[in-house]
Amino acid sequence: MNEISTAIQGKMKPRFLQLVFVDINGVPKGMEIPIGRYEEAVEDGIAFDGSSIPGFQGIEDSDLVFKADPSTYAEVPWEGIARVYGYIYKDGKPYGVDPRGVLKAATDYLKREGFTAYIGPEPEFYLFRKNGTWELHLPDGGGYFDLVTLDKARGVRREIALYMPALGLVPEVLHHEVGKAQHEIDFRFSDALKTADNIVSFKYIVKAVAEMHGLHATFMPKPIYGFPGNGMHLHVSLWRDGQSAFVGENGLSETALHFIAGILKHAKALAAVTNPTVNSYKRLVPGYEAPVYISWGYRNRSALIRVPAFWGSGARIEYRCPDPSANPYLAFAAILLAGLDGIKKKLEPEAYVETNVYEMDDAERTGRGIDTLPGSLGEALEELKRDRVVREALGGAYGNFVEYKKKEWNAYLEYLESMELPENTKKVTEWELERYFYV
Ligand code: GLU
Ligand code: MG
Repeated sequence: MNEISTAIQGKMKPRFLQLVFVDINGVPKGMEIPIGRYEEAVEDGIAFDGSSIPGFQGIEDSDLVFKADPSTYAEVPWEGIARVYGYIYKDGKPYGVDPRGVLKAATDYLKREGFTAYIGPEPEFYLFRKNGTWELHLPDGGGYFDLVTLDKARGVRREIALYMPALGLVPEVLHHEVGKAQHEIDFRFSDALKTADNIVSFKYIVKAVAEMHGLHATFMPKPIYGFPGNGMHLHVSLWRDGQSAFVGENGLSETALHFIAGILKHAKALAAVTNPTVNSYKRLVPGYEAPVYISWGYRNRSALIRVPAFWGSGARIEYRCPDPSANPYLAFAAILLAGLDGIKKKLEPEAYVETNVYEMDDAERTGRGIDTLPGSLGEALEELKRDRVVREALGGAYGNFVEYKKKEWNAYLEYLESMELPENTKKVTEWELERYFYV
């Protein structure tokens, strides 16, 4: 810890600046420039070739420019570098596929309707020790909220939290999750764009600290069959004129109810964006506190949307579907505009549940108008194609996103065929571990 504390005290001045953006999957990409070029990166931008970035341009036409957003500048003391997020331009105009640009456009639209969105995430992850093969070793045997776990995990968790403020994140709660070696660290909510940046920074810190301890942190939605998955529940609220638009006279406002209705209406198509990997659908199965049925309720953790108890201006909804494999920029844009659609059309939320949805039989669910989330990435992509609101929320990224994801789905189908596995298998395959375990 000594080296770190010296570094955190700012003894190492950054000599390089990392220019960070994300690809279509939300994976951070970028280049480093000598710190002296910072001003140039803000004012003129730095040109780069985007042809090999997953989901970006083809090679015929790949000249892009990264312009730093100075409000995101942060120093990474333990590496002696600085980091900055930014927007991507092409031919002098915002590049439509840039996920950060997509979210900016969505929040601008929301602003024109009078709203600002705040989002607080609950990212979950596993810490693994890898044995050289895919045989994964769980270094800690704790369970939900265990404080003492006879291993280093809690120290690692605290160390992660100690690094977070350097990148502008305010850690709020650290705890052991249900799975062995599964953890959660919640950090302070912020406006949608800042929270999306924070999620990218958070994963970066978690992985870096885990690595220092010879561990590997994975945010893969379902790393092990039979164990709880990694969710990334989102607490969302809308504000208008500096006041919560979700607080009504006796509880939730009409606006909040319409927002819930909008999300429920678009939930199937949203899944393609909030749960965008083959592995995501191995998590969305009964028995692990992950949602399966499209419903909402107060406090009810079996529902897709839960309204936590609140005081004062703290009204918010908890959307339980998203997982950490989502590109946070695209996922937020899609969720917010789906909710806004509900507000504009004054939709009323159906499928209200107070009891455990998993204990109902099919007939009861149908009777209450409770539908089911897509069972696979393939199904979710079909839903996305049919949903104009969610498609439009993805703006210029929609075409590239679908094309990229279709390829991913087809590659998986080919793998299943070659292994003679059924298409609806809920087991976690080697194909998934190879593709998602590290990113
Ligand atoms: N790990 C669960 C999920 O996949 C969530 C557990 C919890 O309620 O925090 O969503
Ligand atoms: Mg949790």
